[in-house]
Amino acid sequence: MQIKEETMKVEVAMHGWYVPDGETRPGMRCVVKGCNGEAAYHLCIHHAIPGMVVGRGTRTFVISTWLVQRRNALRLITLNDYALGDLFGGRAGFESQLANQGYQVLGLISSLAELEATKLRHPGLHVILWSPDLPDGDDESPAVV
Ligand SMILES: [Zn+2]
Repeated sequence: MQIKEETMKVEVAMHGWYVPDGETRPGMRCVVKGCNGEAAYHLCIHHAIPGMVVGRGTRTFVISTWLVQRRNALRLITLNDYALGDLFGGRAGFESQLANQGYQVLGLISSLAELEATKLRHPGLHVILWSPDLPDGDDESPAVV
């Protein structure tokens, strides 16, 4: 049983694009330290940012995407709304973190159309999950999305 669970593929379901509009869901609270505002997912209207709504198991996250540049290489870096709030206190904190890692932040992707247009404009653009250590060699790894 244990082995079977480990080899099972984690199901990830896309639920469309989220734009913060003040809507909240019962029981959901903002994870930014000291905020605790009512939230639709993991961030309140003051901290939430646009992104892809993705269900993973019983939980639902908003995956936001930034276009960044480092050493002349463009990338799309993604981060879920729980990590954004819990680790960085929101967008500004995360963008500071990216700058500390040597990235020039070119923009936060605000819509699905913008995401698709960005991929079309930059063929072969890598989409990678943010991690504390993103060596430039990561550009050789396969795209996540
Ligand atoms: Zn908040």
